[in-house]
Amino acid sequence: MDLIKHYINGADIHGGSRQGDVYNPAIGEVVSKVTLGDLEVVNNAIEISKKVLEKWRYTTPAKRASIMFNYKKLLEDNSVRIAELVSKEHGKTIEDAKGSLQRGIEVVEYACGIPNLLKGEYSNQVGSGIDTFSMKQELGICAGITPFNFPVMIPLWMFPLATACGNAFILKPSERDPSSSIELVRLFEEAGAPPGLVNVVNGDKEVVDALIEHREVKAISFVGSSKVASYIYQKSASYNKRVQALGSAKNHMLVMPDADIEQASDALIGAAFGSAGERCMAISVAVAIGDSADKLIENITPKINNIKVGPYNDESSDMGPVVSKDAYDRINSLIESGVEEGAKLIVDRRNIKLQGYENGYFIGPCLFDNVKDNMKIYKEEIFGPVLSIVRAKNYEEGLQLVKDNPYGNGCSIFTRDGDTARNFSSEANIGMVGVNIPIPVPVAYFSFGGWKNSIFGGHNAYGMEAIRFYTHTKTITSKWPEGIRSGAQFTMPTLG
Ligand code: NAD
Repeated sequence: MDLIKHYINGADIHGGSRQGDVYNPAIGEVVSKVTLGDLEVVNNAIEISKKVLEKWRYTTPAKRASIMFNYKKLLEDNSVRIAELVSKEHGKTIEDAKGSLQRGIEVVEYACGIPNLLKGEYSNQVGSGIDTFSMKQELGICAGITPFNFPVMIPLWMFPLATACGNAFILKPSERDPSSSIELVRLFEEAGAPPGLVNVVNGDKEVVDALIEHREVKAISFVGSSKVASYIYQKSASYNKRVQALGSAKNHMLVMPDADIEQASDALIGAAFGSAGERCMAISVAVAIGDSADKLIENITPKINNIKVGPYNDESSDMGPVVSKDAYDRINSLIESGVEEGAKLIVDRRNIKLQGYENGYFIGPCLFDNVKDNMKIYKEEIFGPVLSIVRAKNYEEGLQLVKDNPYGNGCSIFTRDGDTARNFSSEANIGMVGVNIPIPVPVAYFSFGGWKNSIFGGHNAYGMEAIRFYTHTKTITSKWPEGIRSGAQFTMPTLG
C-alpha cells in the first residue's frame, strides 16, 4: 500500500510514528496510508524554510511573477491528473474537481500581478524637505491548515499569494485527502519555485499545535470547521500570531414569490447537491416566501429524483459519495433526527445502493419540507446532500432567519424585484451575497470570507485582503538635510 510522506525541501520525507488511513470513498476502502508528522518534522521543515527565505525575500516581485505565470500554465496542463487525485480521495466528480482547481488557478493568475499588488505609496513634501513613503514587506514563515473538501482550491488561496509576497510557507493539508495538495507543491517547484519554499507537513492536531507554537511561524491561515477555527484563532492569538480562520456555514437561499421558479430550482439543486453538499458555500436551507413553496417543491422534486449518484470516474455522475464512514453515519443520523422532530422528508434517497460500489459512502439527495428553526437539521451544519425547505410568510420573516443564524458565510435571493434584492444585499449580515446567483464565491480579485461564526480574525482569503494579511506595512519618513542644522529637538516632532 502507498505511503504518503511529507514533502520537504523538494523530497518525500518520512517522519512521525503515527499513520492515518486515506480512503477512496466510492469503494469505502483504504487506498493509502499517510504519515502523521510531529514536532520534530515541523522543526525540520521550519529550519528548511528559514534557509530558503534568506534568499527568497530578496527575489524581485517580477521574478516571483514569472514563476506564477509558469505555475498557472503547469496547473492547466496537469488539470485532469490533479482532478483525478482530488476525486479519488474526496469522491467528488472529476468535472467538479476540475472546476475547483480552476477557481484556485484564478488566484495564481491574480498572484501574477504581484509587482503591482505590492506597490507602495509615496507622498512628496509632507513637511518641508520631508517625504513619506510606505512599502509592504514579507512576514517570514507562514502556515496554512486546510480542510478536506477543497484539497487544491483552498491551498491555492494561500501559498501562491503568501510566497508572491516574499514569504515561505508550510502547508498542513487535510489528512483525509492529502495527495493532490502535495502534487500542487511539486508543480510549484517545477514552475521555478526553490525547493523548500513551500513545505508540506502531513498530520493532525499535533502538527497544527507545533506550527502555532513555533516562534518562527508568523501567521496562520486556516479553513475548516468553526469549532477548530475558533480554537486556532484563540491559540494563535495567545502566541501573538497573525491569524485568519474561516469556519463552517449554514447558507440560506430566499425564493421570492416573483422568482423565475425554473431558474431558481435549477440553481438550488446544483448548489445543494453538487459535491454531495460538502461545500462551505452549499445552499442547505431554501426559504420559500409566501406561496413560492408549493411551486418550488413541485418543480424541484422530479429534478432531485433524477440526480445521478455515482463514482467520480463515471462521467454521467452528478454527485459522488460523502467523504468518510463518519460523515456517512453523522449525516444519516441527522436525517433521522429531522424525521423524528416532525419535518416532512419528501425526497428520501438515503438507502441508495450502487452495483459494484456497495461499500461506498453514498447518500442520495434528500429533501425536507416544513423544517422549523428549532430542529437539529436546521441548527447544525449537515455538510451532506440534504436540503431543508423552511416556509416563511413574507420577505421580512425570511430575512430575519438569515440574520438570526449564527453562521454568516453565504446567502442568496432569487427574485425579479430590484428593490427587494437591494434591500437584501444591504441588510443580510452575511459575508457573500448572491442575487439570482446561488453560490456567490467571489472572483480572485475580490476576496472570500463570511461573517459571524463563519470567520475568526480580521482578514478574508485571497484578493487584496490576502496581500495585506501576508505583509507588514512599513512607512518611511525621510529628509535629506541641506546643510542647515537645527540641533536636537525634544518636543513631539511636527512636520512644519
Ligand atoms: P476540520 O475543521 O475538521 O479540519 C480542517 C483542518 O483542521 C484539517 O487540516 C484538520 O487536520 C485540522 N484539524 C482538525 N481538528 C483539529 C484540531 N482539534 N486541532 C487542530 N487542527 C485540527 O474541517 P473539515 O472536516 O476538513 O472540513 C469541513 C469544514 O470546513 C466544514 O465545516 C466547512 O463548512 C468548512 N469549510 C469552510 C470554508 C470557508 O471558506 N469558510 C471552506 C471549506 C470548508
